[in-house]
Amino acid sequence: MYFPLQDIEAAKLNIDDPDHLRIHSLETFGTHDGPGIRMVIFVQGCQFRCLYCQNPDTLDVRGGTMVEIKELVNRAIRQKTYFGKEGGVTVSGGEPLLQRSKLLKFFKLLHEEGINTCLDTNGRLNNAQVHELLEHTDLVLLDVKHINDDIHHKLTGLTNKNTLDLAAYRESSGKRMWLRYVLVPGWTDQEQYLEEWGQRFTDYKTVERVEIIPFHQLGLHKWELLNMKYPLKDTPSPSEEIKQTALSIFSKYFGNVVLK
Ligand code: SF4
Repeated sequence: MYFPLQDIEAAKLNIDDPDHLRIHSLETFGTHDGPGIRMVIFVQGCQFRCLYCQNPDTLDVRGGTMVEIKELVNRAIRQKTYFGKEGGVTVSGGEPLLQRSKLLKFFKLLHEEGINTCLDTNGRLNNAQVHELLEHTDLVLLDVKHINDDIHHKLTGLTNKNTLDLAAYRESSGKRMWLRYVLVPGWTDQEQYLEEWGQRFTDYKTVERVEIIPFHQLGLHKWELLNMKYPLKDTPSPSEEIKQTALSIFSKYFGNVVLK
């Protein structure tokens, strides 16, 4: 179930208040971003510019709506019975790490209520504040968009260095992580780099699961609505053959690979 922000009974502020998260939208009963049934908060703002971004309306760091953290905690408490053993709250985006200090507060409050926390991130930032947030994050969903830095740069506008460093940091902390990979024909389906990607993380003990997410054109209308030129307008979804190749390569390196 998807709530446009107008439905959220929260103060709409124009200032960047430390007690308010800047969010784009909110989903209840989400099942795609982490285990079990989850409340998924899509925050506003991202520094990447992925050619295939399905949520270009979340990119502007000045957009979205300010929603009080307490209000979000109360919503999660109201849904707690549905979360069961596995579920909880996922913060996705946009890029959550841009609001790391607010999220630290949010996740601490959720933990006080016994609610599981999950962070879906591109790993753009890797510093002490982020490490502190990760201490209060039960599960990290880390998007490693390409293993080759030149291609990563062309694909996202920025380097993959911080993402790889953050993966190594999470591994060193011994805490749970899933890795995610968007499979885009012509961009991320090169067998050589899929092998390299697998080799990079195969010895990580904290990687519980690897998700392959086939590219699709569902975000096209958002680019058009925003009057933005969509670079992958003519790119097809990966064929069955491409998907199976990626699955079999990753399966050489990881015990739990899921093709979404
Ligand atoms: S990291 Fe996510 S939100 Fe940011 S541009 Fe890439 S796909 Fe879009």
